[in-house]
Amino acid sequence: MAKLSAKYPGEKEYLQAVQEVLESIEDIYNQHPEFEKAKIVERMVEPDRIFTFRVTWVDDRGEVQTNTGYRVQFNSAIGPYKGGLRFHRAVTPSMLKFLGFEQTFKNALTTLPMGGAKGGSDFSPNGKSDEEIMRFCQAFMQELWQCIGPDQDIPAGDVGVGGREIGYMYGQYKKLARQYNTGVLTGKGSTWGGSVLRPEATGFGALYFTQNMLHRIGKDIKGCTIAVSGFGNVAWGASKKALELGAKVVALSGPDGVCEIPDGITPEMIDYMLVMRASNRDKVEDMATRFPGKAFFTPGKKAWSVKCDIALPCAFQNELSEEDAKELKANGTWCCCEVSNMGCEPGAIHYFQNNGVMFAPGKAVNAGGVATSGLEMTQNASHISWGAKEVDERLHFIMASIHSQCVQFGQQPDGSVDYVKGANIAGFMKVATAMLEQGII
Ligand code: GLU
Repeated sequence: MAKLSAKYPGEKEYLQAVQEVLESIEDIYNQHPEFEKAKIVERMVEPDRIFTFRVTWVDDRGEVQTNTGYRVQFNSAIGPYKGGLRFHRAVTPSMLKFLGFEQTFKNALTTLPMGGAKGGSDFSPNGKSDEEIMRFCQAFMQELWQCIGPDQDIPAGDVGVGGREIGYMYGQYKKLARQYNTGVLTGKGSTWGGSVLRPEATGFGALYFTQNMLHRIGKDIKGCTIAVSGFGNVAWGASKKALELGAKVVALSGPDGVCEIPDGITPEMIDYMLVMRASNRDKVEDMATRFPGKAFFTPGKKAWSVKCDIALPCAFQNELSEEDAKELKANGTWCCCEVSNMGCEPGAIHYFQNNGVMFAPGKAVNAGGVATSGLEMTQNASHISWGAKEVDERLHFIMASIHSQCVQFGQQPDGSVDYVKGANIAGFMKVATAMLEQGII
């Protein structure tokens, strides 16, 4: 860690993600001298390669705009590079390196053969028209297409990149590469190679994982109150499944504040989340305006100020601080499943773990998204498409398997499970063993 911090000073998110994994694997690593001999950790924390490129496009006023695009190909030990693209004003190499690092272990947990990658741009979709989004996606793909391929590197969505953006990028990829293999991107539309349930998969998978955690201690999610942060694709899928399982989503938040929904979210509100996402306004207040008397907006507050049994961070890294963790606990929260990537600050995780709040990390909880991308790749490669029942059954199986890997490697002497340790050790062992077997490369 000391060497890495000296080499990459200021890469806060990247160093945070590496630190968490190294802390978890320390004991097991020291029991394997062959890992140390092959310098597995030193090799694993460095991305295989990073592509950086200029993205220039013209906005609706005819002005030329320039952004920076990236693709971080992190690790290919267990399969081709796989991971999403993030379009957000705060994107930096540090952010994408943390996400690519996390993705490597997450993908290893899915049981599917996928390596880790991440990419994106400091382009902000906020306030952009549909035409501007299309022109940006096309300009971005003009550079990216040479780095990717269905057996090489398969991007998908992340924050700021959904079905619309994947569509524009896939169209441009075909024009440039003259390759018509749909497997080059996942999260496609369902009529042109996309898997049914891929849009829902991250949120659905997170709720299946939560159910597994609760069932292990003899509880059920039915009747529980849930606070959700964000109103994008992940929050949408999570709210939809929570409602279906009989839980009550009592809060949704955005960068502008929180909407309290005392009687619980309704199907109409869940549909409206899609409208809010497509508007590029990034304001949760719109929910309260659309549903007066049912959703109540408070500016500047987080979802974690609302009383709930279960907290589901579904938005961005470090969105839940130690202070938030204390507030949740004081209000009676007893479970937090991190759905966003690294959604909780280290202080929050430690507070939860030391104060009897069950906690599971994003790389386990949100892996259903990329797992269903893996299922999309399988369907594309076999030129078939499965129905919702088949995909959902596989997703259930994968989430149950991730949960049992966490239990296997995270079991504590007192019978409880350290899900952070479990997920990190299970992912690490798979990647490390593959790297060892493939020699010094
Ligand atoms: N961006 C998502 C994640 O963080 C999905 C990646 C994918 O489907 O490739 O896992």
